Amino acid sequence: MGGDENLVTAPPQAQGKEIHLSIDNKTYSTHKNEITSLSVYSNELGVIGKIDIYKTKEKLLVERKYKLSTIYQGQYYQIWAQYFCMTEMGYSINKLAFYSLSDNKLFPINIPTTENKNELINFINQFKNYNPADVIQTNKNKCSHCIYSNLCDKTEVNNVYE
Ligand code: SF4
Repeated sequence: MGGDENLVTAPPQAQGKEIHLSIDNKTYSTHKNEITSLSVYSNELGVIGKIDIYKTKEKLLVERKYKLSTIYQGQYYQIWAQYFCMTEMGYSINKLAFYSLSDNKLFPINIPTTENKNELINFINQFKNYNPADVIQTNKNKCSHCIYSNLCDKTEVNNVYE
């Protein structure tokens, strides 16, 4: 794919990518009791992905972020999905945590419950069943002032700038 990625990547995303690139390129100092950047999958959830770090001695799964002050629900879903993938693959996990690199803080979190798992499955199903046609509502006045109207397949309205 062409184009300059810097133009479409916000600074926090760029920092996050750098962190994960260092792992993928194995420039991050690996330890023999750590598994990094492992590809994981779950047949049950129907998802694939990559974990950040699994500490084999402690059976601890860690997801690092550049800067973390609040843990958002989507971040819980990310580490829960990693957890369910790894356990389905046969790994044993006793602890989960986020790690904030910028201030060197560890945020331990609970192992997901059955209720959490159902919530995650429900969330994944919303993605799988997502149909933009169900949620995009066109508004003639708005579309006529939208610079993308000529490219948009949701409206026949031409914009006023032509
Ligand atoms: S033209 Fe398309 S993109 Fe623009 S406001 Fe209308 S629906 Fe949205």
